[in-house]
Order: sequence, then C-alpha cells, then structure tokens
Amino acid sequence: MTTSPRTAELERIRRKVEAAERLSAGEGTLLFEPEVDLHAVGQLADEVRRRKNGDVVYYNVNAHLNPTNACVYRCRLCAYSCDADSPEAYVLDDEAMLARAREATEAGATELHLVGGLHPERDYDWYLGIVRMLHEAYPALHLKAFSAVEIARFAELSGKPIEAVLEELHKAGLGSLPGGGAEIFDPAVREKICPRKADADTWLDVHRTAHRLGIRSNATMLFGHVETAAQRIDHLIRLRDLQDETGGFQAFVPLSFHPQGTALSDLPRASAFDALRTVAVSRLMLDNVDHIKAYWISLGIGTAQTALAYGADDLDGTVRHEEIHHRAGADSPEILSVAQLRRLIREAGRQPLERASLYRPVETQNNSE
Ligand code: SF4
Repeated sequence: MTTSPRTAELERIRRKVEAAERLSAGEGTLLFEPEVDLHAVGQLADEVRRRKNGDVVYYNVNAHLNPTNACVYRCRLCAYSCDADSPEAYVLDDEAMLARAREATEAGATELHLVGGLHPERDYDWYLGIVRMLHEAYPALHLKAFSAVEIARFAELSGKPIEAVLEELHKAGLGSLPGGGAEIFDPAVREKICPRKADADTWLDVHRTAHRLGIRSNATMLFGHVETAAQRIDHLIRLRDLQDETGGFQAFVPLSFHPQGTALSDLPRASAFDALRTVAVSRLMLDNVDHIKAYWISLGIGTAQTALAYGADDLDGTVRHEEIHHRAGADSPEILSVAQLRRLIREAGRQPLERASLYRPVETQNNSE
C-alpha cells in the first residue's frame, strides 16, 4: 500500500498536536484541503478541546439588543443594515431598550449582547448613554457591547482616542466586547465585502487596547464568501499573535456567511463540511485561546451540535431577539430554551455548564445536578 503525501503530512501534524506544538500557516492551510480527511482533522481538534476543557460544554442565558439598523457603512456582506431614510430603518427609544433588558432579566438572562448599526445622526453620546442607562437599570446584566468597528467609529465621532472611549464605556457599565466586525482581515477581501468600515489593524488595536484596560473580548471570523483558505489562516494567525501579546480573548467564534439579502447573494452558502472543518482548524490553530464557540444561530443547530465533536466547547446561549443573522436568512429558530441547549450538549456526550459572560459557572439548580 502506498502512502499519499497528504497522509504523511497529516501524520506529522498529528504528532505535533499530540506534543502540543504550534502549527504553522502552511500546516493550517493544508488542513483546509478537501483531500485531507475531515474526520481526521476533527479528531485532532477534539483531542485539543478535551485537553483544554474536559467534557464540559458551556452555554449562557442571553438576549440580543440592536438599537438601530441604520448604518453609514452599508457593508456588502450585511443583510441587516439599511440607510437611515429607508422605510425599514428603525431606532429603538429608551423605553423599548429598557423593556428588552427587563424581559431578558425576567427570563433569567445574565448577558445582553448589544451591537447594531452606526446611525448617521446618532453621536457617540447616544451610544454611551445606552450603556449607562441599561447598566443603571439592570446592574446585574453583563453588557457585552459594541464591536471594534463601533468603538473605532465612536473614537472618530468624538475625536477621542480609542483608549478613552473604552475607558468611558467601561466606567458606564460595559462588561466585555463581542468579537464582531473582524470578518476576514486580508485587505483584498475587506475591499470586496466591507470596504468602508474599520480595517484589520484598527480592529486588532481596539481589542489590544481593551485587553490592556482589563476588558475581555471575543474574536470572530466570517467564512464562506470570497476568501481563500490561506486568508482564513492568515486571519487566525493574526488573532493568535495578538493573544500571545495580551491573553485577552476568551473565545473564538467562526461565523458562517449567510448570503441571502446581502449584496453577495449570488454566492452559495458554506456547507456543513466546510463549517465543521473551519471549527476544527480554528481549534488547532488557536492553541492559546481557551474556547471555540459553535454559534448555533449562524451554523444551524445540527451543525453546531456536531461541531462539539470537532473542537467546539461552547454553544453560545439561548439568544433572544437575534436579528443580524436571521435577516440574512438564518433558518435557526429565534430562541432555544435552556432545556433544549442542555439536551443538545448531553446528546453529544458532554456535560452542560451554564456560564456567565466571563466563563464563571452560574449558580443554578441545573449546574448542581
Ligand atoms: S456589518 Fe455592521 S458595520 Fe457593516 S453595514 Fe452591517 S451593521 Fe453596519
């Protein structure tokens, strides 16, 4: 029997993973090749997942709040945003936002995921005021608020340095940053999918600054549009480098691109195989990030559950009022109950654990079972 070159290379990678050695860009790119057995890659990622997190799979009880869908950037990848004068444009008033936070709290949420459009007529103080208002009304609700793209825009609007903006938001009640807006860092890709918003260096600088201030964050990668495997790996390595520097990323979230309703609607949707491979390769490349999240809204419930065997250790949360992915045709439901999340995790042979936003276990009856 002859051994194919890819088999030999995969075997070398296996030995490195077993020895907890870091994979190179070339090795990561090779793992994306369709000839490299997906399940073999998944097994390697699963071994790393088990080493880092044992049998625990995390979830949280959370809700989303998107104050406005009007956005100055109108990225080609975005099905959610519109112009401010569009009939579809909305801006939530304070009462509506407080009602969402109240509803979330009453449903047992520990976290509000707060992101949205950059409205041309709303200044930085409006966004800062939202954080202050929500935090004052519901201090126990962790505000995971504003992507790096939004923070960079606030700095531009206010004329303040990124550091000052983050300090002000943190003081007003911001608990951590979500990881959105990263897309794919490569400038040629950004030119095609989101030419106007913050570039990769700015995105990384916002997170670097947040970490220096003690604000934890997540990181994302939007895959399955015009990018190549090498560009995905470049993205992961840039995140890995920053994590070496700061240690401030909590979780990495691979997001599957949903073309429907975007300016890129002629593209096909990423397959489940591609999604699982991306989760697995992310787990293998990001050796210094604790958690890989299978965000069921983006991946779909079936693929997200399967991803628990391909390197993921977090299913995100119950997610109430998600709009951004659903507007782009995500066919996942609007919400999952805690019982549904726990069943999905148990079916995958893992131990469900409800976490707070910073990965502290929540004291609930469920967690003590
Ligand atoms: S992806 Fe974000 S920044 Fe781009 S148009 Fe949509 S809401 Fe605005």
